[in-house]
Amino acid sequence: MSEAFFELARELGFEVWPHDDDDDVITALHRFYGANQARLQDGSKNGGDMVVDVFVLDHPDLNAFAVSLPDEDVIALFKGMFPLLKNTMRGLVNNGLFASGGISDDNPPFQFAIPARSAVYGHSYNELPKLAKPKHEELASDLYGLTVQYILSHELAHIYNGHCDWAGQRQRLALISEMSSEKIGVHSGLERETLEWDADCWAIQHLLQIVLHPDVQIVDGISAWSLKESPWGPIDHALKMVLVAVLTCARFWSLNDSSDYTDPTPREHPHPYFRALTAFGQIDHVLYFRTGQKHTQMVARVWNETMDAFASSWMELFPEAAKEPAFLADPAIHDVYTSRLKDYARTWAAMHDELDRVKRGGRLAPAIPKPHPAYPARDVSG
Ligand SMILES: [Zn+2]
Repeated sequence: MSEAFFELARELGFEVWPHDDDDDVITALHRFYGANQARLQDGSKNGGDMVVDVFVLDHPDLNAFAVSLPDEDVIALFKGMFPLLKNTMRGLVNNGLFASGGISDDNPPFQFAIPARSAVYGHSYNELPKLAKPKHEELASDLYGLTVQYILSHELAHIYNGHCDWAGQRQRLALISEMSSEKIGVHSGLERETLEWDADCWAIQHLLQIVLHPDVQIVDGISAWSLKESPWGPIDHALKMVLVAVLTCARFWSLNDSSDYTDPTPREHPHPYFRALTAFGQIDHVLYFRTGQKHTQMVARVWNETMDAFASSWMELFPEAAKEPAFLADPAIHDVYTSRLKDYARTWAAMHDELDRVKRGGRLAPAIPKPHPAYPARDVSG
């Protein structure tokens, strides 16, 4: 039990929710600690062992933060994310996210209202019923579980890669929050945005490792992957699962963010549209970098198919979404995104040494991308 965290939560106006009897939370934490066991054992804090606790705050938002406290590190999840994500995945699968399902006369669309442009998503709906076909319920449940792991991994990156400690040198708390609040205080700017980009890339790579289940070989300290059959199914299906997890989060963030993505002013997070595009870029990059084989054509096909199915099932689920600007519709977005990525790469190189001193373990992405030692002749660096 972390007295320091309970005190901080009280100070920030949150109540810690006792999650000991909640199967959803227990399952998510079990998976999280299982998947990150090696990393957490290898990590250190102030020369001692690294201890990461996860707490759930009794609040209906979809939000999370990571904080470095004197004796331990904490990931805080807001309680609202569990029912919201579970409902969303059930709804998307019911509404035709996968070719085998879809709306018909005897399978009407699932719909629930979210107050768009509001920080509070979680207060206005009940849990949707389980899906009639066990296969669909299983898909929805896998997607839900994967999305929770995406959020947990993103928060762990904020701790493990030194982001929180870096922030603690610039603000009162060594805390990075996904949605700002006056009490928490924020650090914004290109450096902060770059940290969020790093956390997204790290979490996407972690999801890929979960769904692809590769054989991992370490070559000069860098992991190389051989793809084999995965319990998650064929590779294109596995990639679709990862894309939906990331797109769902990006879509929710976009409901709460009406900013113009062409505005170059630095922010706290990359624009939600850019976070969605990072899913595509990072999947393509990780597959090439880790396996030495290009998979771009397949990734592009899966991306296009997933975007179509995601857009239509989302629109059915949230009819209000029709009033929102179309998600990622502007073809010019790719140029703006590419230019922003150059800013992140430059900022990352400038921050690298400082982050390297406060990181908890492992290796950060290098300041300047380098070829993989297992595939030195390939034209991919990471
Ligand atoms: Zn973050």
